[in-house]
Amino acid sequence: MKLHEYQAKEIFARQGIPIPRGRVVSVPEQAQAAAQELGRVVVKAQVHVGGRGKAGGIKLAHDPDEARAFAEAMLGKPLKGLLVEQVLVEEALDIASEYYLSVTVDRATKRALMMASALGGVDIEEVAASHPDRISRLPIDPAYGPMDFELRGLMSDAGFEAGATRHIGQIARALYDTMLRCDGSLVEINPLVVTGSGTVVAADAKFDVDDNALYRQHELAGHREEAEEDPIEAEAHRRGATYVRLDGDIGVIGNGAGLVMTTLDVVTRAGGRPANFLDIGGGARAESVRQAIEIVLMDSNVKGILFNIFGGITRGDEVAQGILEGTSGLGVNVPIVVRMAGTRGEQGRKMLEGSSLVPAASPIEAAEKIIELTGK
Ligand code: GDP
Ligand code: MN
Repeated sequence: MKLHEYQAKEIFARQGIPIPRGRVVSVPEQAQAAAQELGRVVVKAQVHVGGRGKAGGIKLAHDPDEARAFAEAMLGKPLKGLLVEQVLVEEALDIASEYYLSVTVDRATKRALMMASALGGVDIEEVAASHPDRISRLPIDPAYGPMDFELRGLMSDAGFEAGATRHIGQIARALYDTMLRCDGSLVEINPLVVTGSGTVVAADAKFDVDDNALYRQHELAGHREEAEEDPIEAEAHRRGATYVRLDGDIGVIGNGAGLVMTTLDVVTRAGGRPANFLDIGGGARAESVRQAIEIVLMDSNVKGILFNIFGGITRGDEVAQGILEGTSGLGVNVPIVVRMAGTRGEQGRKMLEGSSLVPAASPIEAAEKIIELTGK
């Protein structure tokens, strides 16, 4: 789950990382009032996407009227496809240098990895492509955390100016602590600004939280609603379904994550494009199948649905019942192909006979049929 910049900054500030003074607002007049208080400000669109600067989502306002106008131009409108509902109004910084600093999880070394670069302010992916040697890396031993000499080595390797390193070292340590304490999968400051007077400030903040830790991160879990980017995914999560939206037109429903992922591959191989991942789980009963159909059809791109059920704990007759109920109650008008095997698969298939549902003997046959029926 991604946090908004202002939410990430709140957490950073509590851990002792300096951030600019600012207010998050949702109407232009509040932006004006904030600017009256703060002086020269930047108005920053709060959406879960990088590169807002280039896309027109970061604007420097010289006076409160201008701040209001920028807020008005951003609020209620999309930026890189995402609706801007809030803007952060922040005191403008006197920028002397822009650095990059982050901590992420490195699966290869199974450690937290700190990265630093003197080429801040640009997307790190760009730096990685054009100047890979300008990104310095420090894998962190989980037993000791980052040692002072390691941090000094990292900063000198990255080419940070010597006068700022004591301060940046403290920020780096706080960033690592924040990541651990808040179960972050990525914490990033880009740019980390050294001002004309030599102070160091986190001008931007990125924070991805490990979803699996939300049960113990109560405060962060509270941000979940706003953090959802996709309205259908949000609704699916509210209903307790494991759903991920994709960009194709064939709805895919199955039982078990592995089976559903394989089905996505099979559909793709056969030349189709899956619209989603939806796992109804083990032992799914009729009601959850009905819900699954409802969720998949919330995506108006969906032209047909492929069910791939392998009964183990999940019983074929239960699923068949759900499909029959779901399709009759919801007035479904897209083709549905069902492949059903395993526990009570035989009974399930019998129940579907005489309905408008199209049976398939194998996942591959099911994929081919649904692609044909959806007009590919
Ligand atoms: P991003 O484009 O979404 O990563 O948003 P950032 O917060 O990183 O802002 C983009 C760029 O705006 C920064 O790299 C700065 O170069 C520039 N900028 C200019 N003045 C300011 C300022 O006062 N504050 C901040 N945060 N950025 C500024
Ligand atoms: Mn940035």
